[in-house]
Amino acid sequence: MAKALPRQTKIIATLGPASESPETLDALLQAGVDVVRLNMAHADEAWVRTVTARVREAGDKAGRPVAVMMDVKGPEIRTGARATPLPLAVGQAVDVSGPDAAPAEGVELIPTNYPPIVGALGAGGLVLVDNGLIQLRVTARRKDRLRCAVEQPGTLGSRRHINLPGVKVELPALTDKDRRDVALGCSVGVDLFALSFVREAADVAALRALLQEHGSRAGIVAKIEDQSAVDQLGSIITESDGLMVARGDLGIEIPYETLPLVQRRAVALCQAARKPVIVATHMLESMISNPVPTRAEVSDIANAVAESTDALMLSGETTTGKHPVKCVEVMSRIAAAVERDRPPAMTPEPAADTPKAKLLRAAATLAGDLGNAGIVVFTRNGDLPRVLASMRAAGCPIHAFAEEAVIARRMRLLWGVEPHVLAFREGAEATIEAALSRLRDRGLCLPGELMVIVTNVILGEGIIDSIQLRSVPPLPAAG
Ligand code: PGA
Ligand code: MN
Repeated sequence: MAKALPRQTKIIATLGPASESPETLDALLQAGVDVVRLNMAHADEAWVRTVTARVREAGDKAGRPVAVMMDVKGPEIRTGARATPLPLAVGQAVDVSGPDAAPAEGVELIPTNYPPIVGALGAGGLVLVDNGLIQLRVTARRKDRLRCAVEQPGTLGSRRHINLPGVKVELPALTDKDRRDVALGCSVGVDLFALSFVREAADVAALRALLQEHGSRAGIVAKIEDQSAVDQLGSIITESDGLMVARGDLGIEIPYETLPLVQRRAVALCQAARKPVIVATHMLESMISNPVPTRAEVSDIANAVAESTDALMLSGETTTGKHPVKCVEVMSRIAAAVERDRPPAMTPEPAADTPKAKLLRAAATLAGDLGNAGIVVFTRNGDLPRVLASMRAAGCPIHAFAEEAVIARRMRLLWGVEPHVLAFREGAEATIEAALSRLRDRGLCLPGELMVIVTNVILGEGIIDSIQLRSVPPLPAAG
């Protein structure tokens, strides 16, 4: 009988009104969600405390703790507050300024929270408001304002998000609100932080320093949302624990026809750097209202899985959409179909690989040769499973055992990794036996099945890296 192989591509669901009830959370976990995202652009403290507790409860109930990823907003240019919406007609002249300019006679003023905006653009520059729905073209730069012509009309609401394509925004990586959110995230024990609008590696380092102040072991996912991040991709990946291709903002900030190429490059670079990568936004956008995906959405998801991204993310689909659980089921089904068809070749070996990485590659190759054997790996900080995951051994589940729950949950993001929490025993033998029995008792492997064991941390003193082939022990005799 063929074994049912677990899905290796991970699924992230953003929580919101459509998904935050305990019943829906249970259903989402049942459908296979690996990570839940809390988007701090729309969240307050009480909500964060309530839903994180609920997610933990649902995870315990399901016997499968999921990771919580807090997404902090980062620096953002916004228009000023407005009491009433402002209709903007094609060709109309408007002024865009910092926070303190006074309106000129007969010209509507659109103030922003970003004083350097006036110096950032010249005539011909583009100001995009509200996800690019409203487009303003700069006609002249004045001392304290940009005179613009409305190129794409629309109605301007209060505090709308502004994108300046190609402009490197000079704002601190973390706002005061971000710092408060991070403190909250640390206090409720989130497992991952996603940082919006990372423009360079130093932005990630700033969050890293803050996490250290809080004594948090959470991982950092850098969200790539503009041209500057694309230019700095390599160094950002080096500094981060993972990457998110945030296609929503990215598709506004860079020419959208380059988006698929940037996505492919980001996924490949992350694999080579052995960091997890997430493809995000608009993956099942039509399912916010419809019960079935468009064919284009099916292909987009399939393409991301074929590129072998670690994780796929749902946003509006699960925050306010009509079919949050169905979206996860659809995504899971598409991912599984593509994975079944995956060629067995692993990612190519980097030129100057470390001996330890070569050992892991040998373990993955052995598991593949045995016919989709499981790999059991013991880890203190998640590094070995992360390297193993990056090799993309099709069909070989990676069972990663860690002593700390936060390390185990962080690993939910990694391609093909099923994390487990286990107190390591005195000797290696006892630890391996405990791990195999656990997998057998949970139905994750069968008695007599061959498993590849990778160990170095559980041997105590003289650490010896080793690969072993073990068969799963028989079930204990009844009585
Ligand atoms: P957001 O980020 O949902 O926080 O805006 C994702 C994106 O921009 O794609
Ligand atoms: Mn974004």
